[in-house]
Amino acid sequence: MRKLFITGNWKMNKTATEAVQLVSALVKKVEGLSDKIDIAVCPPFTTLDRISTILKGSGVSLGAQNLSDKASGAYTGEISAAMLLDLGVKYVIIGHSERRQYYGETDELISKKAKFALGAGLLPIVCIGETLQEREAGKMSNVITTQFKGSLAGLTAEDMLKTTIAYEPVWAIGTGKTASPDQAQEVHALIRKLLVDTFGKAVADKVIVQYGGSVKADNAKELMAKPDIDGALVGGASLDAEGFSALIKNSIG
Ligand code: PEP
Repeated sequence: MRKLFITGNWKMNKTATEAVQLVSALVKKVEGLSDKIDIAVCPPFTTLDRISTILKGSGVSLGAQNLSDKASGAYTGEISAAMLLDLGVKYVIIGHSERRQYYGETDELISKKAKFALGAGLLPIVCIGETLQEREAGKMSNVITTQFKGSLAGLTAEDMLKTTIAYEPVWAIGTGKTASPDQAQEVHALIRKLLVDTFGKAVADKVIVQYGGSVKADNAKELMAKPDIDGALVGGASLDAEGFSALIKNSIG
């Protein structure tokens, strides 16, 4: 039985002051739930230090939204794994569709970052998902298979056990359009099969596959009821403590 894992991705939202208010409220609302569900928030880099202090002992883990594929040095504007670990970061989102779309991140770079994160002791959340155009052209399975193989290339079975996959159909991110539970389950089942074929059943049975794309308090329960959906990567609905805590509670209730 896999434990549900819900992650909030705040993207480029919240100043440090706003982030402190949000996470302080969230921690109170989800107190005592950590036996039933794993929860993480991925705030902007500039807020990680302050948020880390608030999260200590709370049962809510800290994640980052990206990391460099380099250890250190002359890479202006980049953030290293060591810098994240130093601030108490546990998870890191890698290959979010916005990174792929706006910053040209390829499957090759994403697998490099995933291996780098794992080597440093961070737990990657690797995102894959098709665009609307790809889905409508009947290419969803091909795109998911290509991104799965490319983004997780070189990972060992041991690495995979430390890695979360987030299936995020690009057409459902921030659009208010959610994949129906059946549509999402179809892709999650494909991902589970790819996991079995690549890493074996024992590993595949343990890997958390999150769904992401306009998950809200009122649709979380039916999505989480599907056998291969093990949690959610949540954008917009994680920016408000009331809504995000309701989404978390509805996922388990
Ligand atoms: C995301 O960016 O990972 C996401 C799923 O966003 P939203 O929940 O706003 O669709």
